[in-house]
Amino acid sequence: MDDMRYEAPETLDAAVALLAGAKGDARVLAGGTDLLVQLRAELIEPALLVDIKRIPAMMSIAAEAGGFRIGAAVPGAELGEHRALKKAWPGVVEAAELIGSTQVQGRASMGGNLCNGSPAADSVPALFAAEATVAILGPKGKREAPVSEIATGPGKTSLAKGEFVVSIFLPARPKHSGDAYLRFIPRTELDIAVVGAGINLILDKSGTCTEARVALGAVAPTVLPVPEAGEALVGSKLDDGALEKMAAAASAACRPIDDKRGTKEFRIKVAGVMARRAAQIAYKRAGQN
Ligand SMILES: Cc1cc2nc3c(=O)[nH]c(=O)nc-3n(C[C@H](O)[C@H](O)[C@H](O)COP(=O)(O)OP(=O)(O)OC[C@H]3O[C@@H](n4cnc5c(N)ncnc54)[C@H](O)[C@@H]3O)c2cc1C
Repeated sequence: MDDMRYEAPETLDAAVALLAGAKGDARVLAGGTDLLVQLRAELIEPALLVDIKRIPAMMSIAAEAGGFRIGAAVPGAELGEHRALKKAWPGVVEAAELIGSTQVQGRASMGGNLCNGSPAADSVPALFAAEATVAILGPKGKREAPVSEIATGPGKTSLAKGEFVVSIFLPARPKHSGDAYLRFIPRTELDIAVVGAGINLILDKSGTCTEARVALGAVAPTVLPVPEAGEALVGSKLDDGALEKMAAAASAACRPIDDKRGTKEFRIKVAGVMARRAAQIAYKRAGQN
């Protein structure tokens, strides 16, 4: 391995300059829980690592426009300790808190989870369902993009050379809304999702669903939004018929692979089951606020 340079800038401008001026492969280092594993396995050999954790904007959670702006490098443990965020977006927070162990939680960020580009990344279906957006900075300036436009395939993103995600924005919650994330893993913890399902619901005063968004993990090359599954819930109070239709739409959308953790058939069936159970949790939460 050639020499690798490590930099830990303290401002966004300095990070932009380092990444834009890099010769060879340059990588952003957030928690390092994916990156360091890939380095040790010699899957990557970057010439430059830019550690973003000393940049205050990337490590803070702030209220904004009724919602929350979360620095891309904020670790899962801090998300779980933020009461207002957890109250507004319990599904997003529980998804981020499923990542790894207590030790991993002290490091692993949602920015890293998203930019690592894994189709099984736990926080990403919940962020899709929340219609989260990201603020991106790069040599050409700042831009915003939906979370759904970042990963383009396993290990791949749409970020241009020198671009990085600064923050993730979760919008304001209307009354009677709730979200949830569930995953299936063969063990009780520390495993990669065989299927993940994120759901976000908005109800009217009577408890009828007016908006629903469903996204699935680990069943396609990227996290998969399933608008047909959401539509199956709209106009219902999540009776059995609507839940059946939603689960069938979720299963029908899946394009999974076979691997040692699950066959295609298993993933397709379990996607419907996870989506159904997550919808029931989200519905209960929506009824409580
Ligand atoms: C023991 C263990 C258990 C795990 N369990 C789970 C699990 O249950 N569920 C799960 O989803 N994942 C799991 N992971 C994977 C990993 O912890 C997560 O994907 C985590 O969220 C990555 O975040 P990080 O901050 O550590 O990212 P890093 O490792 O620092 O970065 C990951 C990738 O994203 C890029 N990157 C990071 N931040 C940015 C940014 N702001 N802008 C642009 N690019 C960026 C990096 O360059 C790198 O390519 C596990 C990992 C380990 C080691």
